[in-house]
Amino acid sequence: MSAPVYLDHAATTPVDPRVLAAMVAVLGPDSGHGNPASVQHPEGQRAAAAVARARAQVAQLIHADAREIVWTSGATEANNLALKGAAQFYQERGRHLVSALTEHPSVRDPLAALEAQGFVVTRLSPAADGRIHPEQLAAALRPDTVLASLMHVNNETGIIQDIAALGAVCQAREVRFHVDAAQSAGRLPIDVRTLPVDYLSLSAHKLYGPQGIGALYVRDRPRAGLAPQMHGGGQERGRRSGTLATHQIVGMGTAAALIDQERETEQARLALLMARLQQALADVPDLLWVGAQAPRVPGIVNVAVQGVAGEALLASLWGEVSASAGSACTAAEGEPSAVLQALGLDPVTAQGALRLSPGRWTREAEIDQAAAVLCRTILRLRRVAAGESVDDLPGPAALPPIYGAAVTAWFGHLRGAGRLPPGPGVVTGEAGAPRLGRWVRWDLAVRAGRIERARFSAWGCPATLAVAAWTAQWLEGRDLVAAAALTGAQMAEALDLAGARRGVTLTVEDALRAALAAQHGAGMSTQSVRSELCRN
Ligand code: PMP
Repeated sequence: MSAPVYLDHAATTPVDPRVLAAMVAVLGPDSGHGNPASVQHPEGQRAAAAVARARAQVAQLIHADAREIVWTSGATEANNLALKGAAQFYQERGRHLVSALTEHPSVRDPLAALEAQGFVVTRLSPAADGRIHPEQLAAALRPDTVLASLMHVNNETGIIQDIAALGAVCQAREVRFHVDAAQSAGRLPIDVRTLPVDYLSLSAHKLYGPQGIGALYVRDRPRAGLAPQMHGGGQERGRRSGTLATHQIVGMGTAAALIDQERETEQARLALLMARLQQALADVPDLLWVGAQAPRVPGIVNVAVQGVAGEALLASLWGEVSASAGSACTAAEGEPSAVLQALGLDPVTAQGALRLSPGRWTREAEIDQAAAVLCRTILRLRRVAAGESVDDLPGPAALPPIYGAAVTAWFGHLRGAGRLPPGPGVVTGEAGAPRLGRWVRWDLAVRAGRIERARFSAWGCPATLAVAAWTAQWLEGRDLVAAAALTGAQMAEALDLAGARRGVTLTVEDALRAALAAQHGAGMSTQSVRSELCRN
């Protein structure tokens, strides 16, 4: 199998080989093994010089002074340092902070922590176009507001905020302004000489540098106050203690210098690739391109695929297209993205969102390949949900390892997907709902107390669909008594489901009981009463 098409540069970018070479050059016993604080010997001096060069390179990317750059472990730390550092520094003046619902968790969560300490946070909701408007920000500022924090480019949608206009509102009211620029640095020009920004967070691994290194820009003139959050050796002029990670810093500096030179051509190329991708998906119905009306960076697009379970979509792309559901950070929580919901997407649509972000080495042929896989996968999952056969559309040969071999095998075929024409002897039952994460419907053709044919329609994770496929095959030819005795435990055992995943069998089982109850014309069984028959 060839390597998957990597369309997840918004989560992290590969390290540019030129960056790697610069990093390796300062590692090892013959090069830069000194502590950059140990300037009393040549090894330390050499490391200090390498750090100084990198600091100038990062400063140059945003037109800052080198002294305004504070190294951190990434944008998460930079955001924490800016928010907690500024809030603490200015708390005598006021304890009100302003931000937005669409911020990255590394801004949302420190703000929640500050709230628990007695700060008051106003969270702005973006307008329909995804933007926070200056008037909205102005209206939220209070006499005791000390800090506003708004991101430059959203990591899930690529939507660009008008930082200049928002910063001007803050400046006029003497409110400090923090910008999370993790996704904008290297994509958009940033010039802190003219931008009214006091703190700005950067991350190396979003711009082809290494993971684990970032920086916070802290304005010197007029000086933005900052209470240190890391105490120790007093590095970074006391603003962030800890031995500097020379090789990481050199990596970030080199990456910043490269992207500064190549930004414009790279962005133009990404815009062409994105247009190509959208064109290739133009015939797929019911795709919602998030923020289509808003100004966006070309390298990040979020498309909500209606009518499919996001988890099944993403899993089906395994090994062929590496993308992300919503954002890498929220994907782990399994909740539909808060950012997309703040933009007005309902939770079911938001859970079908796919973020696609090509990058420096993405080629046109890869975009075409990814689009073809996407079209095929979306069609397949929508057909299963609509109760159509997918025998002519084989599924993926592999799924993420968490699903196991049995689920992978059954999901790969999904024989039994479909409906039976209504008629004598055909009974139907369903359970679950997309908004609950799973929905299954059975059509059973029953004759002389025996299930002649079993067809299912389903919406849910690969395990749900695999269980339905296994059950369909198991049911055919069984008598009704045996069918009624089939348990979720048997299904779980057949599909090798463990832990929370065993729960998927409930919906398949409930739908089956509902169909069997319809067959008996009797009242609903306990299980089907538990199930939700509404579908929305
Ligand atoms: N802010 C934004 C907008 C991001 O996209 C990310 C990375 N997902 C971060 C902050 C966190 O950056 P880091 O991984 O460097 O901590």
